[in-house]
Amino acid sequence: MPERVCLVYISAGSNLGDRRAHLEQGLRALGDSGVVPTRISSVFETEPVDAGSQPWFLNIALEAKTQLSPGALLERCLAIELEDGRFRPYPNAPRTLDLDILLYGDWIIQTPRLTIPHPRMVTRRFVLEPLAEIAPDLCHPVLKKTIRALLAACPDSSAVRLYSPGEPR
Ligand code: ADP
Ligand code: MG
Repeated sequence: MPERVCLVYISAGSNLGDRRAHLEQGLRALGDSGVVPTRISSVFETEPVDAGSQPWFLNIALEAKTQLSPGALLERCLAIELEDGRFRPYPNAPRTLDLDILLYGDWIIQTPRLTIPHPRMVTRRFVLEPLAEIAPDLCHPVLKKTIRALLAACPDSSAVRLYSPGEPR
């Protein structure tokens, strides 16, 4: 475990069951695992991307402090998804809870199990929009561009809007 506290950014999403409750459970479980949120975005409702016809998602981004190593953080995220009832019948299936590590400080990691920065974060509006709300000036360590600039240049035109429960779509 690195003795230094690291600032990490995580994207959380849900499009099955009580989506809001799954996100809240994810935040609680991360906190219990020593991943302490310092900033949490608004909840956004987002159109599924590359996933065929399936329910819309709720997505948030969070900034957190942790002493967990990148590998240990990934294992915690996957365990929390499972504890929350996630199963993977096929790739891109609807999910109760998805926790993706976007950035781990300014580390660059490429292993078979873990890629950081998350390789698809810059092509997904549902990731960049919540992240830009909490960290617009954060610099992507590979592309050397701010999240604000990456969002402005994002080619993804799928819908991402603030979530207001009870409103008809
Ligand atoms: P996805 O989120 O891409 O729809 P999954 O949640 O099923 O798919 O994740 C599949 C695998 O992605 C995980 O088992 C994990 O090993 C791998 N992975 C690689 N890099 C990351 C990352 N930065 N954050 C989360 N998972 C990652
Ligand atoms: Mg995932």
